[in-house]
Amino acid sequence: MPEAHFTVENLQDVKAKIARACEEAGRPGDAVTLTAVTKKFDADHIRPVLEAGHRTFGENRVQEAQGKWLALRGEFADISLHLIGPLQTNKAEDAVAFFDVIETLDRAKLARALAKAMEKTGRRPDILVQVNTGEEDQKAGVAPREAPAFIAQCRDEFSLPVTGVMCIPPAADYPAPHFALLKRIAADAGLPVVSMGMSGDYEIACNLGATHVRVGSGIFGDRPA
Ligand SMILES: *Cc1c(COP(=O)(O)O)cnc(C)c1O
Repeated sequence: MPEAHFTVENLQDVKAKIARACEEAGRPGDAVTLTAVTKKFDADHIRPVLEAGHRTFGENRVQEAQGKWLALRGEFADISLHLIGPLQTNKAEDAVAFFDVIETLDRAKLARALAKAMEKTGRRPDILVQVNTGEEDQKAGVAPREAPAFIAQCRDEFSLPVTGVMCIPPAADYPAPHFALLKRIAADAGLPVVSMGMSGDYEIACNLGATHVRVGSGIFGDRPA
C-alpha cells in the first residue's frame, strides 16, 4: 500500500498542473474538475484523498464501486461518483441508483434502460455520451459522425439529462486531435461537459477545453494487477 503522504502529494501536484495548464491556455485555473480514478484501489487507499478534501471520483465497475463507496459515503459528505467504465443494460438500474454521473452511454438500448431506471428510482444522474474518437473496433463509444444524432435521440426520445461527452483516445495516438474533435462535438451539440485526459495526457486535455480529467495512477500509483 502506498503511503498516504505520497498519495496526497500526488493529488496536490496533479491539481497544480491542471491549474497551470488551464492558465497557459487562457482559461481560469479552476476550469477543470479532477476526477480521481479509484478503480482497483480499496477504501484505505482512498481515504487520505477524501481527508485532503477531494470529492470527485471515478470507478469503472458498478459492483466494485458499491463495495467500497457505500461505507465511504457514510464517512464523508458531498461525494460525487462517476461511472467511467462500460455499463451493461442489466446493471442500468444499479448504476442510476448509485452514481452521480454516468459517463459511458453509447447505445440506444442502454439509453432506454437508463430512462426506465430513472423513472423507477426517481434519480437522474448526469449522463455523458462516450465517443469512440479513434473508431477502434474493440472500444466502446459512438462513432464521431453518429454522435450528434445519438445525442439528440438521448435528449429528445429518451429525455435523458445529457450534459456532455467523454472519450478515451487510442493508446498509440497523439491525443490532441482526439481531444479537439471531442470538444467540437460538445460545442456543436451545446453540451457543457467534456471529460477527456488521463494520467499521461491530462495537461493537453486542459489546454484543449476539457472540463473534467480522469486521473488514476498519477495519484494512487500503479494499480494492483
Ligand atoms: C482507468 C481509467 C482512467 C485513469 O487512467 P490512469 O492512466 O490511471 O490515469 C481514466 N479513464 C478511464 C475510462 C479509465 O478506465
